[in-house]
Amino acid sequence: MRPVSRVSPPCPVSPPCPTSPPCPTSPPGLPTRPLPTDGLRLAGLSGCPRPYARTPFPGFPSHVPPPPGDPVSTTRLVLLSARLLDPATGAFLPQTALAVSDDGRISALGDDREIRALAGPGTTVVDLKGAVVTPGLVDGHVHPVTGAELTGGLDLSGCADLDDVRAELAREVRRLARGEWLFAWGLDPNVFGDRPVGVAPFDAVLDGVPAFLLLFDAHSALASRRALELAGVDGPRTFAQASAEVVCDADGRPTGLLQEDAACALVERVAPQPTREERREGLAVALRAMAAAGLTGGHVMDANGDSLALYGELDAAGELPLRLRVAPWCQPGTDADGVRALIEQQGTGGALWRVTGVKLFMDGTIDNGTAWLERPDRNGESTGAFWPDPAAYTQIVGELHRAGVATATHAIGDAAVRHALDSVEKAQASATVGVRHRVEHIETVPDDTLRRFAELGVVASMQPTHCCDFTRADHTDNWSRRLGEERASLAWRCRDLVDSGATVVLGSDWPIAPFPPLGVLAGARHRRPSRDLGQAPHGPEQALTGLEALRGMTTGPAYAAGEEHEAGRLAVGYRADLTVLAADPLTTPATELADVPVRLTAVDGRVTFRATDL
Ligand SMILES: [Zn+2]
Repeated sequence: MRPVSRVSPPCPVSPPCPTSPPCPTSPPGLPTRPLPTDGLRLAGLSGCPRPYARTPFPGFPSHVPPPPGDPVSTTRLVLLSARLLDPATGAFLPQTALAVSDDGRISALGDDREIRALAGPGTTVVDLKGAVVTPGLVDGHVHPVTGAELTGGLDLSGCADLDDVRAELAREVRRLARGEWLFAWGLDPNVFGDRPVGVAPFDAVLDGVPAFLLLFDAHSALASRRALELAGVDGPRTFAQASAEVVCDADGRPTGLLQEDAACALVERVAPQPTREERREGLAVALRAMAAAGLTGGHVMDANGDSLALYGELDAAGELPLRLRVAPWCQPGTDADGVRALIEQQGTGGALWRVTGVKLFMDGTIDNGTAWLERPDRNGESTGAFWPDPAAYTQIVGELHRAGVATATHAIGDAAVRHALDSVEKAQASATVGVRHRVEHIETVPDDTLRRFAELGVVASMQPTHCCDFTRADHTDNWSRRLGEERASLAWRCRDLVDSGATVVLGSDWPIAPFPPLGVLAGARHRRPSRDLGQAPHGPEQALTGLEALRGMTTGPAYAAGEEHEAGRLAVGYRADLTVLAADPLTTPATELADVPVRLTAVDGRVTFRATDL
């Protein structure tokens, strides 16, 4: 793993990077390249519904205005024979049906007969046949545009060995036209076993094919011989980025392995770039897959590149199937104008998306040795803040707080979390403003830090599947080994945070981990690797109950957004963002939850996904 630069966070090496147009709405000081996720490792989409494009979402139908004075025909959606699950109590409501009015709000709860009577000719009526309705599931931390770009090619994340990779590549090569580039992502370097990571094992299958295979950390890639030839890369290079490298063998010939952005860019710039239309379609496809997986909303943790323009276009076209809150980044070095621009940007958006909050980074990652820990890790790393001057971060948090802007700070190590909380405490002392700040990731924290979340009213945003899939119960993984036993035993303390009174929000951080929300809920409960549920859980004492997990994707995100009076519950007047599941997520065993079929999703009372047999 490569260290994260202090100046700019790690950049993914997705092909669209070099030519991505600057975002017209990005405040000064923000990067214009689509940057990654938070520097964690990429994970496969093994849990995702694979046939992305086949999810039926024809776009929202155009609305036919009802005849004036006719109350019946203002009903947009009616759901019958439902079990209505209230995450506030964990109980089913006594009613079996609900109606949604044309303003996208739940207008009535009742029995089937009462609610059916509210339907008019323009109403969508669905008999759920006993399926379970929950308030719409919201991913508390997600990167849709980056994810869609990064995962556009062949998915190699499911490959466990070289033969698997070769088979996948061969299948893809057969599909390609002559001379066409092959793009892939999610390659796990562990497939090489003890062999050096390089393109040699794939030379035969990629003979003459220009190929670019992104490794799962998105910080390095393999280029095929033909791709290197087209790029004119035939030996070592030197880069301004100290960690970038064209890896070469003893004879000085490239092995195909390109380390870090600058090296990858040598090949990327000769590869074809997706058109804007293709990128927009890729985003739409990813969002449809999210809706099909049960998501109705997301707290988007970047506004990089032309993200906002893409959301705006999809929204205007009626093709945005999720309600999105987008937090643009504030990087170290942001000046007063930059902060002002971030403040002015707040509240802009469209019908289903809005710029809300600001995302900051307090550190990098434990795996890369770039987290900020109170004591160095066992490699002597993870000793410093992402901001060269942490006091500058504190000052900006204060300015945003006084302007009523909620901050969301990536803070993984204990020192980073402490500093983020200290800064919120200072900001709160300077002005009484009803702003709900949040901290993202919180991977290892001591007891005395835990309780401060509730005391300061700071939301804890957790990604339990990172614990499940990237660490091991026996602490033989890189994350745990770097931290050592004591701190590794304080991993992802979801249970302790809930018990201490904090509001916990759950998310995937897609594309770092798969987005299907049932997998996230399941991971929060079982804390086992999703690919092998037979393995031991990592920190089982930190597992959430089914109800606590469900709250983390319903009432929790609503509270974090300051919308608990209108979102996250099934009640009259609340938004009709709804997820319908084939089984009760509270009583389904954690190890089976990820496989529960999603029957329907609705946003604003409009159906965004409907199972074909429903
Ligand atoms: Zn993230």
